Amino acid sequence: MGIEQPKTLGNGFVTTSLDKLVNWSRAKSLWPMTFGLACCAIEMMAAGAARFDLDRMGILFRASPRQSDVIIIAGTVTKKMLPVIMTVYEQMPEPKYVIAMGACASSGGVFDTYSVVQGIDEVLPVDVYIPGCPPRPEGLLYGLMKLQEKIMNERNSFGAAIGVGEVVNEA
Ligand code: SF4
Repeated sequence: MGIEQPKTLGNGFVTTSLDKLVNWSRAKSLWPMTFGLACCAIEMMAAGAARFDLDRMGILFRASPRQSDVIIIAGTVTKKMLPVIMTVYEQMPEPKYVIAMGACASSGGVFDTYSVVQGIDEVLPVDVYIPGCPPRPEGLLYGLMKLQEKIMNERNSFGAAIGVGEVVNEA
């Protein structure tokens, strides 16, 4: 079923830890917020379309932050747009993840100006950075796979979900 190192107990039985089960279900059903800022968003759309088909990996774009668990910052972040990004991010339920897609989202890119945020990590906790201007859809695909890997390495996911302790990331 895709869970790491399961122990089989005969036909129809499989054992694993609750953490692994929670991690597996989260990693294999990432729902990104439908949200784009500039040219990188075109590559993000291409990643979701027929040729690259993110749906086959359980990655379905959602039209509401309340149904999303990952936000892909795809494009130049202007200071004027930042409050909107923050509002959308705050409306997403925990646990939530952030991908900085492209040079602009990661570092401001070529726009070293008064009006552009010099990297979304100034305000949001970025989990994965994807280099490029723009990164190709394969780059985004790889970034999403790295995020899945990171989620699979989380510990105490089940405990945190029922209010006992915090998630520990061992990646
Ligand atoms: S990184 Fe390049 S392609 Fe992406 S938003 Fe910035 S200028 Fe556009």
